Amino acid sequence: MTTSEGLPERVRVIEVGPRDGFQMEERFVPTRLKVETVEGLVAAGVAEIEATSFVHPRVIPQMADAAEVLGRIKDRWDVRLSVLVPNLEGARRALEIGGVDELRVVVCATESYNRRNVGLSIDESADRFARIAEAAQEHGVDASVVFGVALGCPIEGDVPIERVVELTERFVELGAAAIGVADSYGLANPVQVGAAVRAVREVLAGRRLWLHLHNTRGMALANALAALEEGVDSFDTAFGGLGGTPVMKGASGNIATEDLAYMCSEMGLDTGVDIDGVRAVSRRVAAFLGRTLPSHVLTAGTKQELMALNRSRASTR
Ligand code: ZN
Repeated sequence: MTTSEGLPERVRVIEVGPRDGFQMEERFVPTRLKVETVEGLVAAGVAEIEATSFVHPRVIPQMADAAEVLGRIKDRWDVRLSVLVPNLEGARRALEIGGVDELRVVVCATESYNRRNVGLSIDESADRFARIAEAAQEHGVDASVVFGVALGCPIEGDVPIERVVELTERFVELGAAAIGVADSYGLANPVQVGAAVRAVREVLAGRRLWLHLHNTRGMALANALAALEEGVDSFDTAFGGLGGTPVMKGASGNIATEDLAYMCSEMGLDTGVDIDGVRAVSRRVAAFLGRTLPSHVLTAGTKQELMALNRSRASTR
């Protein structure tokens, strides 16, 4: 369903803070706090969560407790759980624990960045994905792919839209249940996002498309709006605007869950997300990390809160 402006009435927020957010942090986030973060997000109405990554702990020590986190949160709520898996071994570990609805695999849209990220050519990554998808299917689990640096690469710069279209066609054929397009370094602009979404949608063959946007240059909300106007209804977001990639310097936070939920609600679109509940999670994690998080709505509050504040000031004067 879309509104009269052509925007989707319901917007699906996929919370990636427990994975993309925490993976950047040097200080180990205790397993208990990770689990409580997921609990808080579920309580705030988030219906889909990327909970952790089954990457080797040598690569990302922060994710060393992936099995424990998944074990403690699985089957507890009616939410869709996904985990990131870098290879078949990670996929098998996650599938063995169970409770996962979707395995997500990152494949980068440029050869040089894919080599830097996972040490493989895109062809090799495609073979790897095919095996992961097969294992997932055996367990009745979806396997999806997210194209990293698809809207701008820190090594190669601009990425032709045709490349992303070709990748989409190829991975749909390999069994991808959904396709993610990522602006990993916040290099995209809204016109480009609109064009990319239109082109990719032509070859989706009924698969779901979601966007993964970073706010490195302040354009994540504008890029999200461009995608919404093309009818895209699914977005990765991170509470507080946490996140980034440890692969190379120059990446910063994801689009904040609070900010996207607020923009949607102001536009009359339903995300099902309770902004205050997400902010409670953000504040707790910010206190642990000992720094403020970049979400605007976390810092500035909502319009309604601003009005309430100024009304109570006026009445006590
Ligand atoms: Zn990311």
